[in-house]
Amino acid sequence: MSRSRTYRYLLQPTSRQRTGLERMCLSQCELYNAALEERRGAWAWERRSVSYVDQCRTLTETREVRPDLFKCGVTVCRGTLKRLEWAFAAFYRRCHSGETPGYPRFKAASRFDSVQWEDTKGWGLDTDNKRLRLHGIGHVKLRMHRPLRGTPKAITVSRQGKRWWVSIRCADVPAQPLPATGHSVGIDLGVCALVATSDGELVSEGRFAKRGRNRLAGAQRALSTKRRGSMHRRRACEAVGRAHRKVANQRKDLAHQLSRQLVNDHDLIVVEDLRVAQMSRRPKPRPNGKGGFDSNGARAKAGLNRSIADAGWGMLRSMLVYKAEDGGRELIAVDPRHTSLRCASCGHTESENRLSQAVFRCRGCGHRDHADVNAARNILRAGRAQRASARAGLGN
Ligand SMILES: [Zn+2]
Repeated sequence: MSRSRTYRYLLQPTSRQRTGLERMCLSQCELYNAALEERRGAWAWERRSVSYVDQCRTLTETREVRPDLFKCGVTVCRGTLKRLEWAFAAFYRRCHSGETPGYPRFKAASRFDSVQWEDTKGWGLDTDNKRLRLHGIGHVKLRMHRPLRGTPKAITVSRQGKRWWVSIRCADVPAQPLPATGHSVGIDLGVCALVATSDGELVSEGRFAKRGRNRLAGAQRALSTKRRGSMHRRRACEAVGRAHRKVANQRKDLAHQLSRQLVNDHDLIVVEDLRVAQMSRRPKPRPNGKGGFDSNGARAKAGLNRSIADAGWGMLRSMLVYKAEDGGRELIAVDPRHTSLRCASCGHTESENRLSQAVFRCRGCGHRDHADVNAARNILRAGRAQRASARAGLGN
């Protein structure tokens, strides 16, 4: 099986290369909009649909008329046409599934922030000297903070604020199996903590995240007081962008560290099956016997849902998936229903078991635990059972 991975590195262009990159984005934006115009026009006037292949064929003619668009080679132009093709593919897919998506739109030059090379022509990677050669731009310095593995197949160069990045897609990435540890872990998406493990560990988002969010809120407030079109507004806009990226980076760092630690320390990792989790997450109403209702924690759950989005549980999960695959670890997703109400010690399941968001006390055996840790233990147990039955099924 061929594994593929994407590696992202910071580019450190000279000021001349920076200008080149900006021009390249401008010209590719122009090409994108022209290609979109062609598709729209052909359909509006002739009821004829134009494909990616058709547009690639006419590139040769375009080249004679507008050689300036081809300064960085033809591969990057094909990449731009491919991007338009994806936009249309997504549009048609959503049409077929009965949604009403917006027709692909023209892009503003200020927002056209990435270009791609879909094959290995027009660029080259010199890992020894840490340089990325881009046709028409030059040899751009690369900060290779981690080694690249596998065979580079395609790249995307993108701009984020004032920084330029390259994402290198590699195929045939060799696996790096990790030594067995003899440990297993269940992970619960906590109500109180971000993540609780069956080992009793609770992971919170950390104080930096809070500071980052406060900074973001401050930057947004500052932006709201600035006059449209003013220089102050532009600066405030940039500050909001920086604060956003900072918060996102902190979350990503936390997810990387956590997933790495979990994969390194455990042979078997059990997580909640998210499709089921989303359905079971709304708390039941709690009548108080006097015609009214007690608090069912819905507000706390709303907060929880927000923090799920904040914490990037999906991101953590996808990191777990690829790191587990790389390290030869087993990752199982289980149905999370009842895991928060079941006693991990005796199996007694009752909604009264959960005293509050944080405290679990079994009404059957009196077992007391942190509610999220109790749930994580149940998840681990369910994962082990699922694995055992799968193995028994294979044996027959
Ligand atoms: Zn019990």
